[in-house]
Amino acid sequence: MKILIVEDEPRMRELLRRGLTEEGHVVDLAGTAEQARQSASHIDYDVVVLDWGLPDTDGLTLLRNWRSEGLITPILMLTARGSSGEKVLGLRTGADDFLAKPFAFEELLARLEALHRRASALGTATTQLGDVSFERNKRELRCGGRSATLTAREFQLLSALAEQPGELRTRSELLSQVWGPHFDGDPNVVDVYVGYLRAKLETVGARRASISTVRGSGYRLDVRAGESA
Ligand code: CA
Repeated sequence: MKILIVEDEPRMRELLRRGLTEEGHVVDLAGTAEQARQSASHIDYDVVVLDWGLPDTDGLTLLRNWRSEGLITPILMLTARGSSGEKVLGLRTGADDFLAKPFAFEELLARLEALHRRASALGTATTQLGDVSFERNKRELRCGGRSATLTAREFQLLSALAEQPGELRTRSELLSQVWGPHFDGDPNVVDVYVGYLRAKLETVGARRASISTVRGSGYRLDVRAGESA
């Protein structure tokens, strides 16, 4: 795994670096939120270990910014206290897992491996939607030789719709799943992004996958079987 460790305490950072490197992982270190932002903007990490308390911006704010920018990398947060309030807040903000200090290195390792397994199971899957291949690892739609790359947000929205093809997903469900339960912006953002997805389906020339509007309620991904050859 390619791992980014965001931790300001040099001893803890070194401990993690040594342990994870010995396990065969490639490790980058960041001591501040700013360094972490720069690293994550250049390199596609498999997992990120993010300390809550950082000297410049706290880890929770960094996490929130990353998620709002559409970063989907699994993130395990470290906290000095094991308070369940912090844990809930962290998970709601988009952390995938949580570990309170002090912890056993073996537990951290096992949790990182589990996060990575989960993400790769999702990430390598290609989902067939009618005549369109939805390639999750590349965030791409393909149909008859044409392809279109999705932005992180479009990817999340299509993933949400593709969970239950043919079923109504309400706007509030989609809003909560894709933009987070505490999103307080304009709910019309769902409609805007459905528009973007429709344009991409059109770009690849999809004929048997489309997003239908269910008036007053939400949206439905419709996929249709083709004629057998
Ligand atoms: Ca710290």
